[in-house]
Amino acid sequence: MSVAATTSPAVGTLYVSRFPTSRGMPRVTMALRSNVVSVGSILTKLQQDCATPFPVIRHVADSMTADMRAGLAVDGGSNLKMILSYVDSLPSGNEKGLFYALDLGGTNFRALRVQLGGKEDRVVATEFEQLSIPQELMFGTSEELFDFIASTLAGFAEKESEKFHLPHGRQREIGFTFSFPVKQTSIDSGILMKWTKGFAVSGTAGRDVVACLNEAMERQGVDMRVSALVNDTVGTLAGARYWDDDVLVAVILGTGTNACYVERTDCIPKLQGPKSSSGRTIINTEWGAFSDGIPLTVFDRDMDAASINPGEQIFEKTISGMYLGEIARRALVTMAEEGSLFGMAVPNKLSTPFALRTPDICAMQQDNSDDLQAVGSILHNVAGVESSLSERRIVLEVCDAIVRRGGRLAGAGIVGILQKMEQDSKGTIFNKRTVVAMDGGLYEHYPQYRSYLQDAVTELLGSETSKNIVIEHSKDGSGIGAALLAATNSKSETLIPTLCVDITIAVDYSYEHNSTKLGNISTEKGKNRQISDDLSIRFILLQNRQGKTRLAKYYVPLEDSEKHKVEYEVHRLVVNRDPKFTNFVEFRTHKVIYRRYAGLFFALCVDITDNELAYLECIHLFVEILDHFFSNVCELDLVFNFHKINPSKGIHGPRRGSDDSPHARCLLACVLFMVYLILDEFILAGELQETSKRAIIERMGELEKLE
Ligand code: ADP
Ligand code: MG
Repeated sequence: MSVAATTSPAVGTLYVSRFPTSRGMPRVTMALRSNVVSVGSILTKLQQDCATPFPVIRHVADSMTADMRAGLAVDGGSNLKMILSYVDSLPSGNEKGLFYALDLGGTNFRALRVQLGGKEDRVVATEFEQLSIPQELMFGTSEELFDFIASTLAGFAEKESEKFHLPHGRQREIGFTFSFPVKQTSIDSGILMKWTKGFAVSGTAGRDVVACLNEAMERQGVDMRVSALVNDTVGTLAGARYWDDDVLVAVILGTGTNACYVERTDCIPKLQGPKSSSGRTIINTEWGAFSDGIPLTVFDRDMDAASINPGEQIFEKTISGMYLGEIARRALVTMAEEGSLFGMAVPNKLSTPFALRTPDICAMQQDNSDDLQAVGSILHNVAGVESSLSERRIVLEVCDAIVRRGGRLAGAGIVGILQKMEQDSKGTIFNKRTVVAMDGGLYEHYPQYRSYLQDAVTELLGSETSKNIVIEHSKDGSGIGAALLAATNSKSETLIPTLCVDITIAVDYSYEHNSTKLGNISTEKGKNRQISDDLSIRFILLQNRQGKTRLAKYYVPLEDSEKHKVEYEVHRLVVNRDPKFTNFVEFRTHKVIYRRYAGLFFALCVDITDNELAYLECIHLFVEILDHFFSNVCELDLVFNFHKINPSKGIHGPRRGSDDSPHARCLLACVLFMVYLILDEFILAGELQETSKRAIIERMGELEKLE
């Protein structure tokens, strides 16, 4: 680049450099220009040291793939933590209700609420609020930070408008996006491994961040609960997948950076114990810690040495928004000190770490004017300097070199992930449309960064393959994704009446399926049904999405261990079955007829030759009767979450942990007894007794009177 030559100081004159000493006093240095390195040579060295030609990005991509494999093999196997997210199933589109999301990123804190309307209506309404995280909280105590979050949330919840509806008695549920490395221990708990992105909050590392938030909500009197702890990348993946089934990877490029992707469970050697029924899970790579083969400049090394985590997060420090401006600032300060860029004195303002922010260098790069006026005024505002046109050009060269490296390395990282997936599942990534969902302020606002990233991906994959790889800004970001994951992992397994699908098919079974030995059955709602002969049910199960059996009734004698096996197998069979498929599925030598109501699966096991629709109707009848007796959603919720209620606060009171008091246990026993009684009213010894809803309800009424 020849632009630098014009500002190269002439040999032999004096220059003065002022920058703060460690004691904060301005230091004035004088030097002979003969000792001075020219600005041009500093720029050239910078450009050389951070160059990312093809072999460099090829190496980074391959090395990323290798590190991913090492991290999946064993915990601690590589820089990349490859954290299990406990998100095994992604939103289906059927989610309904009001959910909240919190997002603690690096710069901002966001609170969001969303009203989900199911497949048809999707996102009915959203509202959000965003605040900058006060600087002092980044270095304060854990209580201070989480109290800030809880009180902001409380204020936000108070402003809920009438567009949002929470079913009576239900607690507001939160998807909590926490964009720092967390060792997830379940979908709603995780231990903070370390702070990144300049945070140094005391008392949180090694603790469950959900517990920290719950305690703060308790202190602030906020009656909400966290249903899903979500990394921001995972939230982005979930949010994007809600609209597009081809999304398999999500990348955040904001203050910090991270990536996650959908992995096959059989490709995760370190995954012990039961695998997810879908055979897939989301892996949070924590790729910010990657470091192999990254070209570094002296400015990177100095910035790293001065950081609160020297030697760590090297990928993050070269590609993410927190650092790009700072690297550029360090280069400009050196140019000012050693090459008198901006005149005789080093501008004081520019000597302050992080004075030049990434949005500043981005804004400068958008200046297309001949005299680079915007660059001049930004330099004036940020660094307090009056600059010449040639100096402005140099500043742009510095910014471009750093941003080009950042974007290209990010692109190489993405290729590293994609090629890992392709190697394990030939043809399923590169030979079809695969979407990488992107989010974060850096990606969103920096067009040059985006195009450098895309260039590297195209260079590495070739023009043909890269046509199949769609890298796009995620429509909703991680916020709605987190709310969606709160919905998919909702703790309120209620039979929401609106979710109960009406079965209104009228069938005369006497003409078909003789093997079922059914008499006339008209399943039109409201009509009484007549059943003759035997309907032989082996067992009936009511399970939640996580596979917890809430109710089990066996009409065949089975050992306890066998029952557990059956329950596990049935759960796996039904939980991730595509809703497009039938509700009947072969199970060993029998078949299972199942139906999902909100978060609960009702499953019946019958003979392979039995009539499926009749049993489907039977399930629905059972649900209708349950609905009748537990018409209040909250009460239905109580049935299955009973031990979590604190009776001293009343039935609709806030849930505060589990309660095993004799009172609570007694109440639980009564409710369960009632449910079993209802079940017995219409199925006895595996045979349908009564199929008239009215008759059963009347008989239950008689029983109540007897009590
Ligand atoms: P976080 O990462 O804190 O969750 P964001 O995703 O909003 O938050 O990213 C904020 C970061 O994005 C900022 O720290 C900054 O580095 C970068 N950024 C924000 N605005 C711009 C912009 N206009 N140009 C370039 N980078 C930007
Ligand atoms: Mg974020």
